[in-house]
Amino acid sequence: MVGGANGRWVVETLYEKEGFTCAFRADKVLYEEETGQQHLVIFENGLFGRMMALDGITQVTERDEFIYHEMMTHVPILAHGNAKRVLIIGGGDGGILREVIRHRSVEHVTMVEIDPAVTDFCKKQLPQISAGAFDDPRLNLVFADGAKFVEDTDESYDVIIVDSTDPIGPGEVLFREEFYRAAHARLTPGGVIVTQNGVPFMQGDELKSTMEKFRRLFKVASCYLATIPTYVGGPMAMGWGTDDETLKAVPLEELEKRYAAAGLTTRYYTPEVHKAAFALPRYVETCVKV
Ligand code: SAM
Repeated sequence: MVGGANGRWVVETLYEKEGFTCAFRADKVLYEEETGQQHLVIFENGLFGRMMALDGITQVTERDEFIYHEMMTHVPILAHGNAKRVLIIGGGDGGILREVIRHRSVEHVTMVEIDPAVTDFCKKQLPQISAGAFDDPRLNLVFADGAKFVEDTDESYDVIIVDSTDPIGPGEVLFREEFYRAAHARLTPGGVIVTQNGVPFMQGDELKSTMEKFRRLFKVASCYLATIPTYVGGPMAMGWGTDDETLKAVPLEELEKRYAAAGLTTRYYTPEVHKAAFALPRYVETCVKV
């Protein structure tokens, strides 16, 4: 956070050591706290509305959150076609949860968030992100380390969505092979895991590292893309791991049927965008096929 003639600025710290940063003017700081897990700040910005940063890294903004939350949720659930049990790791702001519970086919959602402060303050200061989803009777909300949860639980899930921070601080364990291995064991046959895997143009090594591990654990290790303006540097990769080769190749007509049956109205996701998201530019393909 830096001060200046025209107010305070929240500086994006994700690429500081590489020599790049950007900043969002904090027209109004709504909440700021060292939660014990991480530094949390929620503030108003003229262009992106209410925003949250954890350890100086942009997590969610009111204006563009729909892109990430729709694509991290509807791609795996509509590709699966009959997802009844969903596990969310992280996701403290409630945006993924909001999109998951829109699927009537989903009977149970477990959400494992390490930092209750994130959920508490997002409910109060960014309520439009979760939009009441935390009150859904299908939710089992667990405050714990997601890596430990998947090691200890004997529950299984059709879709696992890892909506983590970046591999810094508490999020680091969610990029380790032992986490992916334990998560793989928690998938039902035909299940799929998707992971927040950063912006390949800026964080290509992270995607390479996840894909190497996924290739050792899953029959299919890939990713798909969506462009979120505040995750700077180009399209963001969503890691894709499954033992069911058919999930990535669901025909467009089938996706259209499932989308219509789900009765979703979306602002970014469409069945065509779903299919196209798996078409990878060469530089991303090289991260996947390391
Ligand atoms: N959409 C954001 C992104 O792409 O970076 C992620 C948003 S969400 C706020 C990330 C959440 O992961 C945070 O609430 C953070 O507390 C949580 N988290 C980090 N490490 C975790 C862990 N080991 N187990 C569970 N949750 C974790």
